[in-house]
Amino acid sequence: MTRLRVAFQTLGCKLNQLETESVADTFLDVGAELVPSHAPADLYVVNTCTVTSKAEQKARHDIRAALARDPHAIVVATGCYAQMEPAALAALGERVVVISGDLKASLLSLARWLSDNWQGHGDLFHAVLEWQAALRGDVSSLDRFAFHPEHFAMHSRPALKIQEGCNNRCSFCRVCFARGPSVSLPAREALARVRRLEEAGKAEVVLTGINLAQYRSDGFDFPGLLSFLTKETASIKFRISSFEPERIDDAFLAAFANPRVRPHLHLSVQSGCTDTLRRMARPYGAEEVRRAVQALRAVRDDPFLAADIIAGFPGETDAEFETTIDLLSELEFAWIHAFPFSPRPGTRAATMLPHVPERVAGTRVERLLALAACGKAAYIGRWLGREVEMVVERASSGTPRVIGTTENYLKAELIGNRNGDLLPGRAVNIVLQGASKSGDVEMTARPADRA
Ligand code: SF4
Repeated sequence: MTRLRVAFQTLGCKLNQLETESVADTFLDVGAELVPSHAPADLYVVNTCTVTSKAEQKARHDIRAALARDPHAIVVATGCYAQMEPAALAALGERVVVISGDLKASLLSLARWLSDNWQGHGDLFHAVLEWQAALRGDVSSLDRFAFHPEHFAMHSRPALKIQEGCNNRCSFCRVCFARGPSVSLPAREALARVRRLEEAGKAEVVLTGINLAQYRSDGFDFPGLLSFLTKETASIKFRISSFEPERIDDAFLAAFANPRVRPHLHLSVQSGCTDTLRRMARPYGAEEVRRAVQALRAVRDDPFLAADIIAGFPGETDAEFETTIDLLSELEFAWIHAFPFSPRPGTRAATMLPHVPERVAGTRVERLLALAACGKAAYIGRWLGREVEMVVERASSGTPRVIGTTENYLKAELIGNRNGDLLPGRAVNIVLQGASKSGDVEMTARPADRA
């Protein structure tokens, strides 16, 4: 077919990123050209998120911008926001086709369908509508785990989706409504997919889901699956995308202690105050968070631990916020993802009172980000001069510039590399040397003696 220019824009979580990558791979397979999301394109795919009103605003902005760039461009909008409010997205323009989040897997057939049926002739918009009409009646068999690209054009560290949806009902969240109840990829299939990545020479795989703690399949929970995967594979390393603090139990710690599991964990903490956590309907208190962090540090050498925190949750008093600050200061996370509370329609928290004024929530976010910066600087300081493994993400032939992510989740630039085989996705041992002044990395590094 005429070389179709396709642009992808992804908002939100790692799962969305993987799903986008997977759809992009199907377009590459049929010879389409992948262009940046801000460039002119024939087709834009916007994978939306509903976690905050800002994420939704950004999705609407990106769709409008794509339509304005070219009056003939078509936008396919999908994802959690498309699931919750399809009409709001469809109203943005006549050439917007909305594919709700639960039908996202159908997008995996769009590239092949266009290649077979459109071939560059006629109106692309009508071709997309025909594809959509052809889908009807054939959506019951959609596999939510069909997103497993053979090639990763957008990320050098491949991700594997092993879980989807969530059975919890945290009072602020509507992702659990958008994604539905928890489902898991069978353990044998997960193993087959990890083995394929290992055979393809990948150094690392990121295990991804909406709530990995709810993984259940073939008699395995998440720690069981992780132990099974490490036992049945030879060398590939595993990174856990995120986990719930109350589920850091002995079984999890035993799996996390394996040197083939990256010493990095993102904890969904949300608040350091037990009263606030209770209103959020989170099933743990500050003490469980403290215990989880201490236990993780007891089984691994100074792992990179990050936390999500919501500031300005309804009823969060100054004293409650100070309790959160005290806990975070004590635990010294290597990073804090701080967000102002965003009332999501249909959730219990959206109607909770009293509201925390936006200005107050904004000031609290700033304090959290200042704490995050201190935590990151302290973490970097503790790792100076130490040897770590890094997965290469960017390496250009002819230049010595090699950039990647270390096992403990630092962005590093390797200076003085003489190894011409450092392709993206490969691992290399480096020694962390100093904080970097370059915007896209945090640290500089030199090759380790055995690199
Ligand atoms: S654990 Fe809570 S915040 Fe996370 S997806 Fe489930 S309901 Fe939402």
